Amino acid sequence: MEAKYDFTRKFRDQVLRCSSCGFCRARCPVFGLTKRPALNARGKMMLLKEVMDEAIDLDDELIDTLFQCTTCASCSEQCPSGVNVPEIIKQVRKDMVHIGSCHPAFVGMNKILQRHTNIYAEDEPEDFERQRNRKAEYVYFIGCVGSYREDVPTMATLDLLDRLEVDYTLIDEVCCSGVLEDIGYAINEELAHKNVERILATGAKTVITGCPYCSRTFNDRPQYDRLRDEGVNVIHISQFLKDFDLNVKTDKRVTYHDPCDLGRHCGIYEEPREIVRKIAPNYVEMRQNRADALCCGAGGGVRGAYAKNSIAMARLRLKEVEEVGADILLTDCNSCVHNLSNAKLRAQKFKIYTITQFINQLMGQERG
Ligand code: SF4
Ligand code: SF4
Repeated sequence: MEAKYDFTRKFRDQVLRCSSCGFCRARCPVFGLTKRPALNARGKMMLLKEVMDEAIDLDDELIDTLFQCTTCASCSEQCPSGVNVPEIIKQVRKDMVHIGSCHPAFVGMNKILQRHTNIYAEDEPEDFERQRNRKAEYVYFIGCVGSYREDVPTMATLDLLDRLEVDYTLIDEVCCSGVLEDIGYAINEELAHKNVERILATGAKTVITGCPYCSRTFNDRPQYDRLRDEGVNVIHISQFLKDFDLNVKTDKRVTYHDPCDLGRHCGIYEEPREIVRKIAPNYVEMRQNRADALCCGAGGGVRGAYAKNSIAMARLRLKEVEEVGADILLTDCNSCVHNLSNAKLRAQKFKIYTITQFINQLMGQERG
C-alpha cells in the first residue's frame, strides 16, 4: 500500500529504530524546559509510530508537538540507535505543510520570503558604511540576524576585518533561505540564485559568513552548488580567524557557548576555542559543552513560533554561565547572541558578545 506521508517512505526504518530508551531527554532544550514527555525526541518518535500505524493522522492537533523542536540535534548526538531526529522532523513538517497543517508563524515566514529579501520583511539593511559588490579576495556574508537585528556585533566584525587588513566586500545579500527547509518549505530558488550571482560577480574565491546557518546552507544545499563548481570556498568567520595573531588579551573569566549550527551540525568546536584561548587565558568551559552543549532555544523557527519558550530555554543556558562564574559569555552566532541577550537573567552580571565583537573591543581599548 502506498505510504500516506513522505516521512514514512523516507524515514520509516529510522522511526522504527527508536527503542524508546529515553537517552535523548538528557539535553533536549524543549523537554528540559517543559518536562513534557511528548515534546522530546522519544515522544515525537512514539507519535510518528502511531501515525505510521494509521492510528492517528498528522493534523492541526499535532502542530504544537511536532513544530516545537529547535532542530538542535542534541537528541541524535545522544541516540544509541542512530535516529536522525532533526531530519525526520523537517520531513514531517513538510508533510504537514503539504496537507495544510502548519504553525501560522511558519506560514507567515514563507510568505515573507516570497515578497521580501529577508526574514524580517525589512526594506533596507543597515548601511554598515562599507563598499558592496566590488571585486575583492573575500565576500563577507552577514545573514539576516546580523543585518537587521544584531547590527552592533556586525559593525564590530567589519571593523575587525578592517583592522586585520582583509580585502573583503559586502554584497547586496538576500536571505540564504535555508531556514525554510527547517519549517516545512523548500529553499527559495530566486533568493539563492541572487546570492550566487552576486558572490560570483565579485571574483572572490572565499566567502566568510558571520552566520553558521548561512555557512551550512551554502555548503550543503544544491541551490548553492554553483559556488562549489566555480571553486568558491565558504567558511565561517571562526575558521577564518583562528590563524591570525591577534595580540590582545583579557584577564576576565570567559566562557563559550557552542551554537548548534556551528557545533553539532558542522562539527566546528575547536576553532572558536583556539581563538578564545589566545585572548582569554582565564577561559572556563561550561558544564555542557561541545557536542553536549545546551541549545539556546532559537533554532528551527522556535523563536518565531514559541517566543516565550524560546527565551525560557535561553535562560537555562545562561544559568550555566552563572554556574561557572564567567564575566563574559562569547559565542559565534548572531542568532544565539540575539536570543541569549534577550533572555537576560535577573541581576545578571556577565556580558554577552560574539567573539569578533569582543576581540574588536579589546583591540580598540589597546590602540585607543
Ligand atoms: S532536535 Fe533538539 S529540540 Fe528537537 S527533539 Fe531533538 S533535542 Fe529536542
Ligand atoms: S535516544 Fe534515540 S532510540 Fe532512544 S528514545 Fe531517543 S530517539 Fe529513541
